[in-house]
Amino acid sequence: TCHHDWIAHHAARRPEALAAVNLENGRRLTYRMFDRRIATLARHLQEACAVSPGVRVALLAHNSTDTFELQFACFRLGAIFVPLNWRLALPELDAIIGDCTPAVLIYDPEFADVADELTRRHGIVHRLLRGPEKSPYERAIAAAQPLAAPHRLTHDAVCTILYTSGTTGVAKGSIATHGMNFWNAMNCIGVAVLSPQTVLLCVLPLFHAAGLNIYANPTFYAGGTVAVTRRFDAGEALRQLADPMLGVTHLHGVPAHYQAMAAHADFAAADLSNVVGAFVGAAPVPVPLLDTWRRKGVVLRQNYGMTETGPLILNLEAADAARKVDSAGKPVMHVEVRVVADAARDAALGEVGELWVRGPAVTPGYWNQPEATRAAFAEGGWLRTGDAVRVDEEGFVTIVDRWKDMYVSGGENVYPAEVENVLYSHPEVAEAAVIGVPDSRWGEVGCAIVVRKNGAAVTEAELLAHCATALARYKVPRTAMFVEALPRSAVGKVHKPTLRHQFRSAVS
Ligand code: ATP
Ligand code: MG
Repeated sequence: TCHHDWIAHHAARRPEALAAVNLENGRRLTYRMFDRRIATLARHLQEACAVSPGVRVALLAHNSTDTFELQFACFRLGAIFVPLNWRLALPELDAIIGDCTPAVLIYDPEFADVADELTRRHGIVHRLLRGPEKSPYERAIAAAQPLAAPHRLTHDAVCTILYTSGTTGVAKGSIATHGMNFWNAMNCIGVAVLSPQTVLLCVLPLFHAAGLNIYANPTFYAGGTVAVTRRFDAGEALRQLADPMLGVTHLHGVPAHYQAMAAHADFAAADLSNVVGAFVGAAPVPVPLLDTWRRKGVVLRQNYGMTETGPLILNLEAADAARKVDSAGKPVMHVEVRVVADAARDAALGEVGELWVRGPAVTPGYWNQPEATRAAFAEGGWLRTGDAVRVDEEGFVTIVDRWKDMYVSGGENVYPAEVENVLYSHPEVAEAAVIGVPDSRWGEVGCAIVVRKNGAAVTEAELLAHCATALARYKVPRTAMFVEALPRSAVGKVHKPTLRHQFRSAVS
C-alpha cells in the first residue's frame, strides 16, 4: 500500500485551516504554512545532511510544533524519526544513541553540552540547533526550497523508533511503521471522534508514544489542530482548556496531570465546558480522581496502550464511564486481544490473566534486539503486554496492574494498584504508591509510600486502619512511609524500581 502524506493532503484542500499552535511562542501554523515548512526542512535535511531513506534523525528537545514538523519531514524522506527523552542522564542517552546511530541530531540550546558529548562519542555528522527566529533550524527552513519529490512510502516501512518509558528497566527501542501509524490513527479517530473541528491540547512529552500518537498524529490525519505546550503546568493547562480563543476540544493526560489540575486553586472556577473528550491513561488511574473530575462535570475516559502497540488498545466510552468506573473499556476496532491465564488456557471471566495483543498497529519488534523481540511475542504473533487484567461478563477490561509490580504475601497475590486506590480515597492523601518488600514470615508484605496533602497530618496508623476497612488483611500494607514527592519518570509514571531500591528494607 502507498502511504499518503497527511499534511500535504489537508494543505491542498483546506490550506487556511489551523494545523498547529505552539503555545510557548504563540506561533500559529495553517496547513499551508505547516506543509511548506515541512517541505523546506525536508529539502534541507536531504541536501545539507544527506538524509535518505532509512537514515535515523534524532531530536533532543522540549515539546513544540517543531517536533511534528521534523517528524513529517523525516516521513517525506523515508527517514526514521527518533524523538529522545531529554530528561535522561548522559549514560542513558549514550546507550540510546549507540543503539539507533542517528546521522543527524537536532537539539535545543539548553542541551548543547549533552549534544556535543553525544556527537563526539558517536561521530554524529550533522547537528542542527533548534530555537527561535534566528536559530540555525529556522534559517535552514527559510533558506531551503521545498523538497522536489517526496519518497514513496509503504505501510511496512519504518517511520519512528520510540524508546519505551523504562518504567520496568532499560528503555527499549520500539519500531513503528507507517502502517502502524495509519491503523492507530483509524483507531483513535473512531474512539475520540476526531475531525477538522478537533483542537487537541497536547501536554504529554512528544518523545513518548502517547504524546505523539494519542491523539496528536491522528488529529493531523483528521485535519484538526494540535496545540502544543512546552511543558505541562497545571495552572496553565486549566487556562488553556478554558480559553475560548483556543477552543480546546480534546485532552489526553496521565493521572498525575489530572491530579495536579484538580489540586490547583483555579480548578473549581475553570470553565471546561468546551472539552468534549478528556482521556486518561499510561499508568493506573485512581478511581477517586475520576470522581473529582465527574463532580466538575468532566467525564474522564480511561485509555490503555503501550509503545509497542501503536499505542491505543483499550478505550472506555463516555456512556459507560459512570457504570464501569475502574475499567479501561473495550478493545479499539483494529486489534485482537486475549487474556491468558497460563501457557495452556485463556482466563475465565473475572479471573486475572495477562493481556495479549495482535493487530496491524502492533510493532514488528525492538530495534537491534532480536532476543527481546522474540521474548515479547508468543506463538501466533501475540504480543505479551506484561499487564495483568480482568474481563467482566460484559466484556469490559480492567487493568489490574503490571505483573512485575505484583507481590505475593502469605501465598496471595497482591496488586498494588488496588491498594493505592484505597489510599487515594483517603481525603488527606495526595499521592500514593505501594510496593512489596521482603518479609521473613509472609515472603513479602506491602509498604505504602504516601505524599500527604498540603497541611494534612494523617498518621501511619490511621492510614493502615483506613486500608483495613476496605481490603482483605493480606492486602493491607504493613507500613506507611511519608515522603515529599514520589519519584516519577518523564511521562509522570511512578518509578517503582526506585521506590523498591529505597524502601527494600523498610520492614524488618
Ligand atoms: P518499559 O516498557 O520501558 O518498562 P512502560 O511499559 O511504562 O516502560 P510505555 O510503553 O510508555 O512504557 O507504557 C505502557 C505501559 O503503561 C503498559 O504496559 C501499562 O503497564 C501502563 N498503562 C498504560 N495505560 C494504562 C492504564 N490505563 N492503566 C494502567 N496502566 C496503564
Ligand atoms: Mg512496557
